[in-house]
Amino acid sequence: MSVRRTLVVLSLASLIAGCDGAAEASEDDARSSVASAPAAEPVTPGAEPGAAAPADGSVPAPGHVAVQPGAPPSSAQAEPVPRVAWPPTALSLGLLATMDAQDLAQSRATIRDERSGVISSYRPGDHIRPDVEVLAVDNGVVELSNAGEVEYLSISTVPVELSADDVFYPDLVDHLHLSTSMGDGVVMPPGPDYTLKAEAYSWGTPRSIALLRDAIRNYARGRQAPPVHIGDISRRGGGPFPPHLSHHEGRDVDIAYVLHNPDARFGVATERTLDRPRTWALLQALLDSNAVAYVFVDYDVQRLLYEHAQLEGVDDVTLEKLFQFPYGRRASRGMIRHWKGHRDHFHVRFEQ
Ligand SMILES: [Zn+2]
Repeated sequence: MSVRRTLVVLSLASLIAGCDGAAEASEDDARSSVASAPAAEPVTPGAEPGAAAPADGSVPAPGHVAVQPGAPPSSAQAEPVPRVAWPPTALSLGLLATMDAQDLAQSRATIRDERSGVISSYRPGDHIRPDVEVLAVDNGVVELSNAGEVEYLSISTVPVELSADDVFYPDLVDHLHLSTSMGDGVVMPPGPDYTLKAEAYSWGTPRSIALLRDAIRNYARGRQAPPVHIGDISRRGGGPFPPHLSHHEGRDVDIAYVLHNPDARFGVATERTLDRPRTWALLQALLDSNAVAYVFVDYDVQRLLYEHAQLEGVDDVTLEKLFQFPYGRRASRGMIRHWKGHRDHFHVRFEQ
C-alpha cells in the first residue's frame, strides 16, 4: 500500500509529548494552545467545502480527485470521493490531519473530539461517536454521516486547541474504535463476592462475563475482603451507553477501587482512602486472566499501585509492562493507562 501523507497540520507525537511536560508541571485543567504549522498544501482560508476550489489548495496532487459538484454520495469503497456540496459540520470535532491511501478504504483521518478530548485515527466506516460515522477521507476533508445527514469536516485553518486532558494512544487506536452493538450478551448473575450497580447495565459477552467472574472468585478466595463493586458493563444488546465512550459491546467493565471504608462505594481513591494491597490483588486477578487489553486507572492512582507493587517485590520488567507510570499520563506505554474520570473506579477492557 502506498500511503501519501498529503496534509499534516502538526506532528501529533511531538505535540502530545510537548503538551505532556506542561501538563505535568501544572494542573489538569491547564490548556495548551498549539498553532497550526504551515501545511504542505495550505487550505484556502474561508473556503467552503464543496466550493469550486478544492479545499486542499489549487495544485492537485497526483491522484487528486477533482471537484464534482452535485455528484451523488459515494460509498467510498472503490470509487474516488466526489466533492459535493454537503454542509460543513457543526459538530465539535477538529480535523488534525488526513492521510490518504490508494485504497481509499485505508485512508485515515486524525480527529479530535472536543467533547471527550479523544484524539484518534479513523478510517471510512469507523464511528467517531455512536451516530457519527466517517464515510470518506480525502485531502484535508472528511465526509461524515451525522445521524444520517452527510456533512463535511475540513481541516482546521485556525490554531487547534488541545487540552491537557486529551487522550491519544496510537497503539490503542484500534481498540478504542466504537462498536455499535453486541451479539449474544449475557447478564452478570448475582454472586456472593460482588455487588452490581444495576442489573440492566451488567450485560456482557459470555467470555467477558466468565472472565470477570473467575477473576473475582480468584481474588476473593481465602481472603477476608468486602465485596467487589461492579459498575457499568453494557446495556442489553450493547450499543450507545451515554455518558460512556465505550461500554458498547460487553467487553468494558467499570470496577470500584477497594477502599479502606467498605461503605464508600465508588469513592475517590487517594493515598488515604485506597486499600492498596486489596486493589492490587484484584487488579492482578484480572490481569492473570491473560485476556485484558488494557485498564484505565487515573495516573495519580497508578502511582499508588505502582509503589505498592514495588513493595510486594514485583520486578521492573513486569512493572514496565503493566504500568504507564512513571512515563507521564499520555505515554503510550503499559497496559494500565491514564484516562480522566478514573479516580473513583477503574475500567477493564477485555480482549475479544
Ligand atoms: Zn468505563
